[in-house]
Amino acid sequence: MERILVSACLMGRKVRYDGGAKTSGDALLAAWRHEGRLIPFCPEVEGGLPVPRPAAEIEGGAGGAAVLTGAARVLAADGSDVTPAFLAGAQAALAVARSFDIKIAILKQGSPSCGSLTIYDGTFRGRRMPGQGVTTALLESYGIAVFDEDHVAEAGARLRELTESAEPGELVKPAG
Ligand code: SF4
Repeated sequence: MERILVSACLMGRKVRYDGGAKTSGDALLAAWRHEGRLIPFCPEVEGGLPVPRPAAEIEGGAGGAAVLTGAARVLAADGSDVTPAFLAGAQAALAVARSFDIKIAILKQGSPSCGSLTIYDGTFRGRRMPGQGVTTALLESYGIAVFDEDHVAEAGARLRELTESAEPGELVKPAG
């Protein structure tokens, strides 16, 4: 079965910086969860950050790719440099994705880890700008397609393409 990596906060896990979740009510996600298709993951927690934690933004709104190359840092609202934890979380997400041969991820929009279309601009003034989070940038560099919680149907279309292009034998791979 094709597995899908999903932001743990979208699955109701209270892992966000403010101690809350952002539970998605999407019916397709619920169906996939029921099938055992979803692999919930929080890069920031797996990277070693606590819950709750100060909000963090990428310096200058530079985007995750700049963090991966060392051209930008991730700073917390208290001024601390949390770049190492964000990099560790992104690598951990990639390791999990590769262990399940994952080709699709559905990650929470706007996050400095999980954002795929927008991130905050680094000023902590609540201003979004186009850009990707650190985990998204790393996953996409390995060919994993990242969608957000508002584009689950598009993820479903990608899943159908993958399933239809699979060899018949691959469709009945044993789980696990
Ligand atoms: Fe959710 Fe991703 Fe933030 Fe974790 S890092 S709380 S999974 S948006």
